[in-house]
Amino acid sequence: MNKAYIALGANLGDPANTIRAAFGALSNLPESRVVHCSSLYRTAPVGIINQPDFVNAVVELETTLAPEALLDALLDVEQRFGRIRAEKNGPRALDLDLLLFNDQLLDLPRLTLPHPRLHLRAFVLYPLAEIAPNLTIPGRGHISAWLPAVANQGIARL
Ligand code: ADP
Ligand code: MG
Repeated sequence: MNKAYIALGANLGDPANTIRAAFGALSNLPESRVVHCSSLYRTAPVGIINQPDFVNAVVELETTLAPEALLDALLDVEQRFGRIRAEKNGPRALDLDLLLFNDQLLDLPRLTLPHPRLHLRAFVLYPLAEIAPNLTIPGRGHISAWLPAVANQGIARL
């Protein structure tokens, strides 16, 4: 069994509803089981700030899928939720990022593990720390060490 953490984000339509529906979609992935879902968090957009707030969450998954097969499954769920790939960091119906896969370090053209920006984003770190408070991020150290630096990013638990 592999342990994976997935970040969810949405900021179009009814984003809280989308995230809850996405929890359901993740629980239906093949060879996989949702172990924990974080609370939902409202966060200010990063990069392009002239767009609606995001709702974010993190899920812990047990899976026998390999990392790239899991990424494919996540991209497939994004498509089903009507993701329109337009501008980077722009509005999206649903964004799913593979944060961590066991302790694996990976640098492939289409998959970097751990996710290269996870330790810099409040909207990932807060929900991740909620469900995995003792996590060590491979190559980066204990999660608690990264929380103070992002405390100034706008984030509120729904
Ligand atoms: P972002 O989430 O950074 O705003 P996208 O969702 O558009 O950007 O992702 C673009 C590409 O990033 C995906 O097609 C995927 O192949 C690649 N990628 C690399 N590493 C990861 C990862 N750990 N999780 C998800 N996607 C990743
Ligand atoms: Mg993504």
